[in-house]
Amino acid sequence: MSHSTTHQPSSSAPVHSTMMPAQLLITEILERARLLYREREIVSMLPVGRNEQGQPIAGRHSTTYGEVAQRALQLASALQAAGVQKGQRVATLAVNSYRHLEAYLGIPAMGGVLHTVNIRLHPQQIAWIINHAADKVLLIDNMFAAMIPVLQVACPTLEKIVVLGPLPQAIAGTEDYDAWLAQYEPLAQYPDLLETDAAGMCYTSGTTGNPKAVVYSHRSTILHSLTSAPRDALNVSQTDTVLPIVPMFHVNAWGLPYTCAMYGSRLVFSGPFNDGASLAALMQKEQVVITAGVPTIWMGLLQELDRAKAAGTPYQLPLERLVCGGAAAPESLIRAFYEHHQLKVVHAWGMTETHPLGTSSIRPADVPEGSDEYFQLSAKQGIPVPLVQLELIGEQGEVLPHDGKTMGQLLVRGPWVTQSYYGEDAADSFVTLNGQNWFVTGDIATLDERGFMHIEDRSKDLIKSGGEWISSVDMENELMAHPSILLAAVIAVSDPKWDERPLAVVRLKDDVQPPTHAELTDFLASKFAKWWLPDAYEFVDDIPIGSTGKFLKRELREKYKDYKMERKESKP
Ligand code: AMP
Repeated sequence: MSHSTTHQPSSSAPVHSTMMPAQLLITEILERARLLYREREIVSMLPVGRNEQGQPIAGRHSTTYGEVAQRALQLASALQAAGVQKGQRVATLAVNSYRHLEAYLGIPAMGGVLHTVNIRLHPQQIAWIINHAADKVLLIDNMFAAMIPVLQVACPTLEKIVVLGPLPQAIAGTEDYDAWLAQYEPLAQYPDLLETDAAGMCYTSGTTGNPKAVVYSHRSTILHSLTSAPRDALNVSQTDTVLPIVPMFHVNAWGLPYTCAMYGSRLVFSGPFNDGASLAALMQKEQVVITAGVPTIWMGLLQELDRAKAAGTPYQLPLERLVCGGAAAPESLIRAFYEHHQLKVVHAWGMTETHPLGTSSIRPADVPEGSDEYFQLSAKQGIPVPLVQLELIGEQGEVLPHDGKTMGQLLVRGPWVTQSYYGEDAADSFVTLNGQNWFVTGDIATLDERGFMHIEDRSKDLIKSGGEWISSVDMENELMAHPSILLAAVIAVSDPKWDERPLAVVRLKDDVQPPTHAELTDFLASKFAKWWLPDAYEFVDDIPIGSTGKFLKRELREKYKDYKMERKESKP
């Protein structure tokens, strides 16, 4: 028989919490998936060859959380054997697929830092990022194999390059991922990890040439996953099938791979097949309930749904929610989905610096679905999710009213908001308000009496095309290096498909002939990805310049706001 003694403290003595100080680690997600959701399916659409037009053909791959967790632990062992130490970076250059999910779970499980690199950048920019992060190992999809020889030369810190998926011919100095994993047993024991240890790394696109890195911790990832799942956020549950279309290289696909693995949702990955028709067919076949992507994706999907309905062969979609973020979704788009197809678009806002989920635009209880107010609120970015706080400040740092009208610089703080950049002194990105540290988002917003935030503008002049940034400053600097060009300002012009596309406004040097579009495209092509290049060039007598010597881009945007571009290049 056991004995226990009771101790009666005096009323003045402080009471200490009796709760366990359990660490919030990504290994908890991995273990949960392995134990509780091992039969739950994960579907990936992967290229399995090319058709007569040279387009990739999609093949369906099916696995389970149990398999993925097991292979993630094999990856953890393989990385240990490759000499990866705690805190060292393992890069991925990959589309959304089960192998990428294995990297999400396996790299942090052995103490490594998952560094997801944006596949849409020019190889030179990719090399710059890999070198800045000093990545030790690279996991690269077979579809990007052409980049390997460039990276082998340009990235001296890479000790190992592993190719995800088969190649027709092995590339010297690389390993096949599946064959590599097969050599290792699953990791038997996790290393000692703290919740504050680094787990993931993402680069933003800066206004200046070089992007800045944000480093996520195990703790921020776990808290972000817990908060993203509820109905008032992304609505992720084990009863549903989730299709994250937002790329896994872009802010961890809004955290969905971790959130879905934590809650056991059936996952569908569309790989590189993200046009409206492929997505609609996939959603119908796989009975997708929750999906997430940028407005460009939803514009493509809407067109396809409208087309099929008009043809008398509408899709049967059990979709409950299309989460839209990364750029503003126009009210007309939200209305069209609802009115044509009874589908609900839910706006969410966030940034690389916020892991990313900051707000979601959920209908308040007193606003009827389908009412005008419902659509107006849906077009706002929404209220902050729990533990995230928003504030607005004016030019002098004064706090502005939350009246839905006053525009100010949007500030954010919370447990998954960054407090610095990796290896970068960016003090002007943070302010102290009432003794607390806030991140200055660079977004210009309003906050209304209900707490709904609305992005009005960006203080930076980046261009967002298809959910990805194009830095105007880089492009301008390069254009101004052209022998015939004196000044060049690149601005965003709204585009029905890509949201925004770049227009270059150019002042030529005296007495020179304007270069042709093709010449300028050739001139820029060695420095920038194809989809970054301006869709059009406007030759002007002068470009307005402000008192601090910067181009007055607002004026240019106003002048060209209804500009119709003839697209010369399309995004790959
Ligand atoms: P990124 O770090 O690439 O995810 O970009 C973050 C930026 O995207 C934000 O600062 C906003 O300017 C923009 N953004 C993200 N979500 C939204 C949204 N729902 N509506 C409008 N802009 C958004």
